[in-house]
Amino acid sequence: MTKFVAGSKGELEYLKRIVPYRDQMVKDHPDSPQEGFEYFTSEDYRYSHGGGHNLMVEKFVSGGLKMAFDMIKLFAKQMPKMIKGRRECFTDLKPYLDEIETTGTLLKKEHPLLATQPNFDIWEKLSKYAWDKWQIRIGFTEMPEQFVFKGKTILFRYAIVCIQEMKKSEIDQAPEISAGTEVIRVYKELGLAVNDLARWLREKYNVHCQSNHPLGGLTNTTPLAGKAGLGWQGRNGLLITPWYGQRQRIAPIFIEEKLFEFTDSAQHKWIEDFCQNCGRCERSCPTGAIYSEKRVSAENVPGIGVTRTCIDRIKCFPQFNATMGCSICVKVCPFSQGDGIYDQLKAAHLKRLQN
Ligand code: SF4
Ligand code: SF4
Repeated sequence: MTKFVAGSKGELEYLKRIVPYRDQMVKDHPDSPQEGFEYFTSEDYRYSHGGGHNLMVEKFVSGGLKMAFDMIKLFAKQMPKMIKGRRECFTDLKPYLDEIETTGTLLKKEHPLLATQPNFDIWEKLSKYAWDKWQIRIGFTEMPEQFVFKGKTILFRYAIVCIQEMKKSEIDQAPEISAGTEVIRVYKELGLAVNDLARWLREKYNVHCQSNHPLGGLTNTTPLAGKAGLGWQGRNGLLITPWYGQRQRIAPIFIEEKLFEFTDSAQHKWIEDFCQNCGRCERSCPTGAIYSEKRVSAENVPGIGVTRTCIDRIKCFPQFNATMGCSICVKVCPFSQGDGIYDQLKAAHLKRLQN
C-alpha cells in the first residue's frame, strides 16, 4: 500500500488517482529520498525557530513592523502566481488522467517525431523559446527511478531539465529578505515557465508531457540536472553550473518519448574535487546544517554513480523558512561570483593538480 506523503492538494489528488497504474509509470525506488515537504508537516518543524507556528511573530519581534510589512508584501505579490503554478502542474494533466481511468492505460501512440529523432531543429526552437520568453536554459536526460521521491510517481520517463537564474545583486544580500524575495520570485517564475513550455510542446508538436513545479515537487532535481550535463552537485548538495554557480532554481518537464538527443555529461564532475578543498559553505552555514561526512543515499544511479545526503534538513529548513530562503551557502560559494568565474576556478584547480 502506498504511503501518501506531504504535498499540495493538487499533487495529493494526482497521486491518489494514479495509484492503480503506478506499475506502468516511473515510480520511486527503494533508495529514493524523502521529499522535504514531509518535514514541514511535522510537529518538530511547527514549533521550531522559523517554523510555521512562529514565523510572523518572530519576524515582528526581530524586525519590527517594517519586517512584518515586507513579509506581507512579499506574500501578496508572489504567492497567488506561485499557487497558480503549483496547481496547474496537475490540472493540466487532466486529459491524461481521464484517459488512464477510461482505458486502463495511457496509450503509447508511436509519435511521428520518433522517426526524425533527435529533432535538432525542434530542440533549437524549444531552447530559443525557453530563453527568449523566460531566460531558461535546458538539458535533456533519462530519469533514474532513484530520483523520484518516496511514495511519488511521474507519468513519463524522459526529462527536459530547466534552470533559471537568481540575480547575484539580490542573493548577495542573504540572509536579508531581499535575497529571500529573489528565491521566491524565481520559484514562482520557473513554475509558470515550465507549465508554459509544456503547453508549447503539447500545442505545437502534440507531445505528451508533465511539468513539475520547482517548489516541492515529485523528483530530486539537483542530481537530475547534473546528469543532464547542466552542472554538478556541490558540497552543500546544491547544483553548481558554469553560468550561475549555485544561483539558480531547477524544474523538470517529463515527456513520453526520447525525442531529442541526451545532453548527459560528466564534464563538471571535477567540482567534487574542488569542493574537497573549499568547504566555504559548510563554514558559513549559521545552523551547521551541511554535513562534513556525507551519507550515501543511493548507489549505482545510472549516469551519476553515487548520490549523497548533504544537508540536515532539521537544521536548515527552519532557518530557510525564517529568512524566506536563507541562501548564505549560495552567496558564499566561489562559483556564484559572476561571469567567467567557472573557467577561472577550473583553470586554478587543474594547475593545483599539476603541481
Ligand atoms: S540554506 Fe542556510 S541554513 Fe541551509 S544549508 Fe545553506 S546556509 Fe545553511
Ligand atoms: S562553497 Fe565551496 S565547498 Fe561549498 S559548494 Fe561552493 S565550491 Fe563547493
